[in-house]
Amino acid sequence: MKCPKCNGICFLMIAFPHNREKPYIPCIQCDGRGEVPEEMTQWMADGEILKDKRIAKRITLRNAARTFDGDFLETAMKLSSMERGVIKPDMAIYDNL
Ligand SMILES: [Zn+2]
Repeated sequence: MKCPKCNGICFLMIAFPHNREKPYIPCIQCDGRGEVPEEMTQWMADGEILKDKRIAKRITLRNAARTFDGDFLETAMKLSSMERGVIKPDMAIYDNL
């Protein structure tokens, strides 16, 4: 299905670009493909819920990532992708925060 974030255009405009000639980035939702899997609508809805769970616990994404074993940056990217619904969210991931 067409990417709901960029509407299939594949790019997102950025408000304050470093390079004025290129005020856009590849869409973070579809990775510049313009198409996303059908399930992504559900992932995005679940990701919002997951993000709300973390915010309700007053924990930043960085601090949440620090509580998991393994590479910090990798974990932070994974959590961020889940919250945006780019990958399927694990709804129990913040339960032990
Ligand atoms: Zn997109």
